[in-house]
Amino acid sequence: MKPEGVRAHVGIIGGSGLYDPEIVEEPVEVKVHTPYGEPSDFITVGRVGGVSVAFLPRHGRGHRIPPHRINYRANIYALKALGVKWVVSVSAVGSLREDYKPGDFVVPDQFIDMTKNRGHYTFYDGPVTVHVSMADPFCEDLRVRLVEVTRALGYTVHDRGTYICIEGPRFSTRAESRVWRDVFKADIIGMTLVPEVNLACEAQLCYATLAMVTDYDVWAEKPVTAEEVERIMKQNTERARRILRELIPKLSGDPDESKCSCCKALENAAI
Ligand SMILES: [Zn+2]
Repeated sequence: MKPEGVRAHVGIIGGSGLYDPEIVEEPVEVKVHTPYGEPSDFITVGRVGGVSVAFLPRHGRGHRIPPHRINYRANIYALKALGVKWVVSVSAVGSLREDYKPGDFVVPDQFIDMTKNRGHYTFYDGPVTVHVSMADPFCEDLRVRLVEVTRALGYTVHDRGTYICIEGPRFSTRAESRVWRDVFKADIIGMTLVPEVNLACEAQLCYATLAMVTDYDVWAEKPVTAEEVERIMKQNTERARRILRELIPKLSGDPDESKCSCCKALENAAI
């Protein structure tokens, strides 16, 4: 289990590009063991603007773990065990619409799950069974705060969007990409939201995603160079750090229960 006395209030799950915990002041690395195995990496616990945080790189440092091999249960369990209430998940995504441009941020409000074989979609594998509501899968309180902070910094942010999560690690075919866009009406595409988001819900955490658009998905038939993607990734990552530095001090209190019901997600979910 976690080292005694180490606690954090805000959890950050860093995605592609955001592996290093450089925003964390007075960092201490902790190894958290869970009943589900090992999290993706050591967790860096420290402070940002006076608020205690726990930073975990989703793919491990150096991007060692592909999306379908991430131990999502251990990651969420570890953050919960550290006392975390809020989880900000950062991820790089492709865009399925013209007006969500490379370099823009999106704070999604819905998702579509097209993963196929991740195995561990729940903490409740029986005998206790739960069916959590995913009607509004993200914490509305946290979503609003994320959008406000991003906008105040002058960055383009879309305050709604449907994130389609594919299995990966391969990208979509042109035909698939057109289906996601024209038939499913999804707005952004990635490989890591599910089951992270629903496990966070089962853990009764306030969870929202800061998605950073790196490029148009293949439907657009706009070939981009690796250099261009790299440039956008670098810019997005730097901006994401600034957003987190502004946001985290605003999360010093507990979630506003009039704005979200994340902490009560299990109340009517057990069978
Ligand atoms: Zn909430």
